[in-house]
Amino acid sequence: MDILQQEPIAALATAPGIGAIAVIRVSGERAVERTNRLFRGKDLTQQASHTVHFGTIRDQANTIIDEVLVTIFRSPASFTKEDVVEISCHGSEYVIRQILRLLLNEGVRMAQPGEFTQRAFLNGQFDLVQAEAVADLIAADSEATHRAALTQLRGGFSRQLKALRQQLIEFAALIELELDFGEEDVEFAQRDDLRQLVWSIQRVLRPLIESFSVGNAIKNGVATVLAGKPNAGKSTLLNALLNEEKAIVSDIPGTTRDVIEDELFINGIRFRLIDTAGLREATDAIEAIGVERTRQQLDKAAIIVYLFDAAETPLPEVQEVKTELSQRNVPYLLVANKMDKLSGDQLAEWQQQFGHELVAIQANTGKNLDQMTQRLTDFVRSNAVPGSTVVTNLRHYEHLTQTDAALARVLDGLDAGSTQDWLAIDLRDSLRHLGELTGEITTDDLLATIFSKFCIGK
Ligand code: GDP
Repeated sequence: MDILQQEPIAALATAPGIGAIAVIRVSGERAVERTNRLFRGKDLTQQASHTVHFGTIRDQANTIIDEVLVTIFRSPASFTKEDVVEISCHGSEYVIRQILRLLLNEGVRMAQPGEFTQRAFLNGQFDLVQAEAVADLIAADSEATHRAALTQLRGGFSRQLKALRQQLIEFAALIELELDFGEEDVEFAQRDDLRQLVWSIQRVLRPLIESFSVGNAIKNGVATVLAGKPNAGKSTLLNALLNEEKAIVSDIPGTTRDVIEDELFINGIRFRLIDTAGLREATDAIEAIGVERTRQQLDKAAIIVYLFDAAETPLPEVQEVKTELSQRNVPYLLVANKMDKLSGDQLAEWQQQFGHELVAIQANTGKNLDQMTQRLTDFVRSNAVPGSTVVTNLRHYEHLTQTDAALARVLDGLDAGSTQDWLAIDLRDSLRHLGELTGEITTDDLLATIFSKFCIGK
């Protein structure tokens, strides 16, 4: 494919600020020639793609701005598929500014946020899902978000969906053809085959749709509510986990009144820890706000950790809590705190009663905390099939669910023996959502929204 080289753009590709090295990226029409006019060293225009050259960048007065390494990528073997030059200079803000200024003099303009990636997408380097994964990969701040972004970048689900969409287009075309025959009773599209195809698409879509709850948790943090009566040791536990004095620890029941939110990375997964006032009925007005908030937080939780003072809490009370929690359809963990105050027999009794749902810890020394955190990460991991693609992007999730809904209408239509025009509408709907997902159908608005979220230089 011949790439149409657009007007040249440049931007700092590394983080702004002072650093040992900075990389300025140039892409577009005659990028190599333009850079060559600032460069003293070999004639860059004569050099092969994927080669690196040492030299200096000089201004109009022939003053040396910096010693640099210039890497050349010739179209189409580059990130944007255009001619690309990467100038590695010293990471001084002055040097960067001067080199960019000299490039602008050569007819290069400053790149918009995400413009390099947008060109890569428009030139068919990858589809929209992968382009968005580039942004996610850069933003990834935990092992789990990084893994999810990388899988998507490497093709993820879009390749498979594209192939299925192609088959669906063929069916849609046949149905449209039937429409052309109007009154005549013809069927070019085998209804059973169409049904099979819809099923196979749904088999791909459904796990992706379901993965979003995990994906979203991975990206935005797993909302973890730490509940328990006053004095159970919630603040102590939170402090032990966060290793800093965020919540007030005290002996007076009911002093942790505010909902404290904090983030914690456990085994590469981000947890948003939400500490709450005790679940006990409020005895005064201020506390009531706290308790009301506890209930609200419980409703938002992805995981609930119920902490109790194992020495002070009778077994039936925990049974009751367990019954209440099990009605919430959210994974929960019962944590028996202050195990130092229990005898071995008592501990064994708790374990026997609640088995795998309970962990005994000692919050003030951190004993068994690793067991507890292991359980928490297990909850998240057990929902994600290892190596499978996890949908983390809301835009993808919405198109996936809308495709699924449109396909369900196709199936309903087939069952009800609907006329071609109805089937055609639902098929077009499914195709549109699938196309918008992978970027086979785009609008300028959509692209602008997606790429404006990128940082400049990407
Ligand atoms: P909260 O009201 O649930 O936030 O409870 P706190 O964190 O304020 O703890 C209440 C009291 O229990 C404090 O005096 C803590 O030092 C104490 N405590 C917390 N964890 C343990 C533990 O594992 N063993 C013992 N013996 N005391 C603990």
